[in-house]
Amino acid sequence: MSGRPAAFLGLGAIGAPMAARLARRGALTVWNRTRSRAEEFARANRARSAATPREAAAGADVVITCLPTSREVEALLDGPDGLLAGLAPGALLLDCTSGDPATSRRIAAELAGRRVAFADAPVSGGTNGAEAGTLTIMVGADETTFARARPILEAMGSRVEHVGPVGAGHALKAVNNALLAINILAVGEALAAAVKAGVPARAALDVINVSSGRSFVSETLVPERVLTGAWPRTFRLALLEKDVGIARDLLRETGIEGPVIDLAGELFGRARAALGESADYLDAIRLIESQGGVEIRG
Ligand code: NDP
Repeated sequence: MSGRPAAFLGLGAIGAPMAARLARRGALTVWNRTRSRAEEFARANRARSAATPREAAAGADVVITCLPTSREVEALLDGPDGLLAGLAPGALLLDCTSGDPATSRRIAAELAGRRVAFADAPVSGGTNGAEAGTLTIMVGADETTFARARPILEAMGSRVEHVGPVGAGHALKAVNNALLAINILAVGEALAAAVKAGVPARAALDVINVSSGRSFVSETLVPERVLTGAWPRTFRLALLEKDVGIARDLLRETGIEGPVIDLAGELFGRARAALGESADYLDAIRLIESQGGVEIRG
């Protein structure tokens, strides 16, 4: 995209490091609801900060959004300072939010009427992957839009996959994160029981991770963040609960019975109510620890 101006809206935990990689590639304008964050970003990176979504989109060939849910993305479109007022015919909107397929199809249809292309392009790989530019990006779009989006997304991800039409990226991201949520709960429960049965957590994981029960949660997340007691805050539990909710809706719409995903959604719903909006997703394991009166460390 070098030379072609881009805009990035939503400088949160994952949006900021993604935008920082884009800023190294060419002209970038950023917008954030809390403007001081955009100004701070512009000072630290080669970027300009805009006062409104409209100002950010004006003159941009590609506009990228990364907000909590599709609701916030849709809300950004309208009004005198909204994105629609700034997006020029021929522009491309890439939504990297972990959003929901139905809203994205609605947004795509509205934009198509203005000759603006749209792709849903949610990401996986966490804030570390965003900093390193090694995200996996799952894209829902038509072929032409995907071909246009690909070089921009490659500035942020090492694996950019076209997974289907508009909405398909969000559907895949939701089921991926439902699997993540299930794994977090399952590994937390299993390790709590192993520790109580007299197996040190580190020894239990060492064996699980060369056995059939291993997963990304057991191989990476728990050793790096739970056993060490580091508990970094990188991904809000509220956002993971939202993702499982999108997966549950998807199962209902597709007529698939999903008692396991449903239960994970209910448990994360309870964790969100108990821990609040700023808790980290792995705090779900802290709840299991406190309910079981056990610590998973080592
Ligand atoms: P954060 O909660 O850290 O940041 C949210 C961003 O959205 C902030 O820039 C915030 O602005 C902005 N925002 C919130 N509400 C509104 C609103 N009503 N209108 C305009 N802007 C708003 O979220 P993340 O960056 O972690 O996540 C963003 C998306 O990426 C989510 O869909 C998430 O599920 C997904 N994701 C996150 C990952 C992670 O590891 N963190 C991994 C993969 C996907 P302000 O600064 O003003 O609060």
